[in-house]
Amino acid sequence: MHKTRILEEADRLMTVCNSCRYCEGLCAVFPAMEMRRSFSDGDLNYLANLCHACGACYTDCQFSPPHEFNVNVPQTLAIARAESWATYAWPSALSGLFARNGVAISLICALSVAAFIFGFAASIDRQVLVGIHTGPGAFYALMPHSAMAALFGLAFLYAIVALAMSVRAFWRDIGEPVGNSIGPASLWQAMKDAGRLRYLDGGGVGCFNEDERPTDHRKIYHHFTFYGFLLCFASTSVATLYHYLLAREAPYAWWDLPVVLGTLGGIALLIGPAGLLTERFKRDPALVDEKRTGMDVAFILMLFLTGLTGLALLLWRDTVAMGPLLALHLGVVFALFITLPYGKFVHGLYRYVALVRYARERRMAAQGAMTE
Ligand code: SF4
Ligand code: SF4
Repeated sequence: MHKTRILEEADRLMTVCNSCRYCEGLCAVFPAMEMRRSFSDGDLNYLANLCHACGACYTDCQFSPPHEFNVNVPQTLAIARAESWATYAWPSALSGLFARNGVAISLICALSVAAFIFGFAASIDRQVLVGIHTGPGAFYALMPHSAMAALFGLAFLYAIVALAMSVRAFWRDIGEPVGNSIGPASLWQAMKDAGRLRYLDGGGVGCFNEDERPTDHRKIYHHFTFYGFLLCFASTSVATLYHYLLAREAPYAWWDLPVVLGTLGGIALLIGPAGLLTERFKRDPALVDEKRTGMDVAFILMLFLTGLTGLALLLWRDTVAMGPLLALHLGVVFALFITLPYGKFVHGLYRYVALVRYARERRMAAQGAMTE
């Protein structure tokens, strides 16, 4: 007996697939499944997060609807995956946020913080908002650097703690004791597989989206989004080092490293999320978890808005628009941070953890075969 109806269904499908094994070359899910004869809740959550939703096993399956076996692995694992994020969320009282309207929550949060920063600055000196500020320290006319660092540092710290706690719960539930050494080889293998989205290619042909013609579109847009996010994160990290180690205050010249990284990251965050949203709305409904569209869209939209407001700030930072644009950008980034543990962002972390487990059990199986 499993805890939920969707885990019961996932168990049924994995049992059918374990007898069939036609799809074993498509991705990591099927080889991981073949290492088991029965499936605990943790096993099914592990397999669900190992799935990259390429859709190949639905298109290739001779038992998919309208066949009476009704085998739909991508959709079942998508629902199980989303439910697992709510199950492991920390604190558990906030797990319901996964099911709420993520777009409305994220936008309200972003606009509220932007309005607060804007109102706070206006209450001190209206000139701050309508004047032109240039040169080092110009951004801090709107909000002192110490206040900005405290606000965003706390939001970021909260996100890190909440994510770490939920991933820890997931790791334990899929059968890995916390504290045991993982081994650099498994971590490195998982990093390579995650970094190139190895299992989003339908076994080599591409990802199935709106029809039975596979493409690399989702993989390419995922790469833009992921590496755009990393570049923006690197930009912020370098700017922090500049501030504290070199006593150099933002904004920086267009050729300076934080601006170059941020500009490339911002452009990637326009291309990637826009492409992913387009692909998402074209996708065959049979492949997705329709109930959680809002959650998918919210995270992608916030990434897009982070790129858009960041680039707009770069373009108009020497004009009177700097104050409103900076307030808006900070509001969007703040909303992105505090919704990270309760939105689609977690799929990247859980998938990486599942890939580590997969690399580990493959190595253990190979070592076992060599000693036999
Ligand atoms: S998805 Fe269908 S074809 Fe693939 S292993 Fe399962 S039952 Fe077989
Ligand atoms: S949808 Fe793709 S990644 Fe997921 S189980 Fe099927 S083949 Fe594997």
